[in-house]
Amino acid sequence: MRSPAQARIDLAAISHNVSLLRERAGGAEVMAMVKAEAYGHGLVPTARAALAGGATWLGVAKLAEALELRRAGVTGVRTLVCLGVPGEPYDEAIALDVDLTAGTPSLVEEIAAAAERAGRPARLQLEADTGMGRGGSTPADWAALVDAALKAEAAGHLRVVGLHSHFACADDPGHPSIASQIEVFKELVEHAEKAGIRPEVRHLSNSAAILTLPEARFDLVRPGIAMYGLTPVPALGTFGLRPAMTLTADTAVVKRAPAGSGVSYGHTYVTDRETNLALVPAGYGDGIPRHGSNLLEVFAGGRRRRIAGRVCMDQFVIDLGDDTLSAGDEIILFGPGDRGEPTAQEWADTLGTISYEIVTRIGTRVPRVYEDGASQGAP
Ligand SMILES: *Cc1c(COP(=O)(O)O)cnc(C)c1O
Repeated sequence: MRSPAQARIDLAAISHNVSLLRERAGGAEVMAMVKAEAYGHGLVPTARAALAGGATWLGVAKLAEALELRRAGVTGVRTLVCLGVPGEPYDEAIALDVDLTAGTPSLVEEIAAAAERAGRPARLQLEADTGMGRGGSTPADWAALVDAALKAEAAGHLRVVGLHSHFACADDPGHPSIASQIEVFKELVEHAEKAGIRPEVRHLSNSAAILTLPEARFDLVRPGIAMYGLTPVPALGTFGLRPAMTLTADTAVVKRAPAGSGVSYGHTYVTDRETNLALVPAGYGDGIPRHGSNLLEVFAGGRRRRIAGRVCMDQFVIDLGDDTLSAGDEIILFGPGDRGEPTAQEWADTLGTISYEIVTRIGTRVPRVYEDGASQGAP
């Protein structure tokens, strides 16, 4: 059954982007960041495409995402939960061979206790806050975190296999925090290693850093947005990346309307002439931003049209003038841009947000249709 709106996912583009990033990483391993349903592209198919493109690690934010990968049969690949929070089912994650993150001594202890219950040592990575001002240990608290980890390691509950941190401003090349974060990270790594930690991987770089900061690659890099073909630094162009998501909807209804017709809630759009209106069956319940009312463009009948009036929960309207469309004709909301359609970046620019949010918010009601033709009801 064809759904009235769908997100086509070009898995070959994802593999292409990962192999491009792998080259740019100059020998560092690639951890494909597949959190948040792979930025809306669908967790499991995307993870497999990334591995096909040369990624050797998977990264998620939440523990439930790692468990979902394992339960779907994505096993035998190192998988890191990047966000360390208390109260998660850590024993289950340890049993399923997931790498965990801690940024506080209390979380190290919680994970050590879970490892005891699981009957095997946890693989733990320590997170440093080198200037992001979010999770991870500040430099002032780092010695205490390292001590707690060494203690748990000595007791046989875990092995510290990685040290990582995250950039705040890598998408703003030349920002003074970048050089400072690299320096602080090196100092914290040195401290941990002197204290006796033997990490397999040290890692700091997101997409923007991979493409602009060869000095920050360390042992592994963590691309997210660039894997999906969207530029992490819009000011520097597209870096040869191929956008993987194309959002389409099939025209539902076309009707002739007289001049002066109000369109959609609030009548924020009123036709200025007799015209053809087309109903597009996708709305904010599918992840189309309501802020895009009267602003965003789509590609319909060979040209750009602006959304006319408010985006509703399930639908919106476009004004075709004297052109027409037939019910069932495909409308491209955004895609790679090579047929004239807007890109996710363009939608983001229009709305004052980032492309990440545009693709990630596309909802579970929109089936992801993979290039091989297999479709999933939810991503
Ligand atoms: C999401 C995330 C990334 C990927 O960031 P992009 O800017 O999408 O490349 C890397 N590292 C961590 C810890 C993340 O949470």
